[in-house]
Amino acid sequence: MQTHDDMAVVTTKEALQRYLSLKEDEIAFHENRNCSLPLKIPTYFLSLINPEDPDDPLRRQVVPTRYEQIPESKGTIDPLEEVRYSVTERLIHRYKNRVAFLTTDICPMYCRHCFRRRFTGTFQGPASEEQVNEAATYVANHKEILEILFTGGDVLTLSDTRLESMIQAFRSKRPDLVIRICSRIPASYPMRITDSLITMLKQFSSAPFYLMCQFNHPRELTQQAIVAVDRFVEAGIPAMNQTVLLRGVNDDADVLVELCNRLVSHRIKPYYLFQGDLVEGTAHFRVPIQKGLLLEEQLRQRLSGLAMPVYAIDLPAGGGKVPLGRSYLLGKDEQGAWMFQNAEGVIRTYPDPISEEQSDQEHLE
Ligand SMILES: *Cc1c(COP(=O)(O)O)cnc(C)c1O
Ligand code: SF4
Repeated sequence: MQTHDDMAVVTTKEALQRYLSLKEDEIAFHENRNCSLPLKIPTYFLSLINPEDPDDPLRRQVVPTRYEQIPESKGTIDPLEEVRYSVTERLIHRYKNRVAFLTTDICPMYCRHCFRRRFTGTFQGPASEEQVNEAATYVANHKEILEILFTGGDVLTLSDTRLESMIQAFRSKRPDLVIRICSRIPASYPMRITDSLITMLKQFSSAPFYLMCQFNHPRELTQQAIVAVDRFVEAGIPAMNQTVLLRGVNDDADVLVELCNRLVSHRIKPYYLFQGDLVEGTAHFRVPIQKGLLLEEQLRQRLSGLAMPVYAIDLPAGGGKVPLGRSYLLGKDEQGAWMFQNAEGVIRTYPDPISEEQSDQEHLE
């Protein structure tokens, strides 16, 4: 393993070449300047990459290639139509009872598969006090909103003080508001998770926080990452994981099974497995849905219910999230009973309860 300074971050081709001998496709990225998402990799994460393997799954996630710059007719910059669903400058209200707040566009590491590339790494910085207050007022006026996602960018790039005042702004108006801290930092830069961060969060006990991580490969679950997540869990903040299904990274049943089992063994609940969104510049990461469905079926057989994530797709044109997966329900048989085919291929039927009207009829007969 290469030694690394914990605080260092690589942002140029030259610095990157000190760690990895770049492939042609990786060099070509730097010849074209029209890619919006900057290069940024903490040396911590670089140290996890095997430099001998040009197809290393961690490398694929963070080292840019020219494939990002290929124009794509099916791809758009905002397939979830988050701009249309924005109710204040950084607040997205797509589902009735929950909202997403874009706390900052900055991340310690830019993932090449990022679906929010229209915003991520655009050097806008953290939400201003005005933007925070505007969003908090909106949430205060919409009592149907029960949860807020602090997302971005990566919310944990904010300083403790800034994060504290952001939480304060929302919780002073809505003490009951559940806050999801959506962050890749446990995987990308776990040393950010300090005791002082956790102490700060613990003051806000009027409603729960949830930590939503993004681990995409079992090798990201290092000792440091585990310690970082432990700090949240010990403080009473449950940890969940959202994995993006990525070609050449984790589109393999063995890899996903190992990832999910290890997550559970470290008190992280696998929550979603996401089909790749139709975001321009990420086509080379997408897995065909047919293969995704097959993986889902294999996972369902090999994982416990606890370790099983929901395979889901966020539909284009702002259609929203829907679960994907094999159906075990075949339809109804001639007697009107529901027919199922279980994981082993065996058929079973389940008749519906007799309705009250029907049972009254039977009494009269
Ligand atoms: C995914 C998402 C949520 C949260 O959805 P869950 O299914 O509850 O995890 C909320 N708002 C937006 C805009 C989202 O994209
Ligand atoms: S951490 Fe999240 S927001 Fe940041 S680049 Fe990665 S996927 Fe995008």
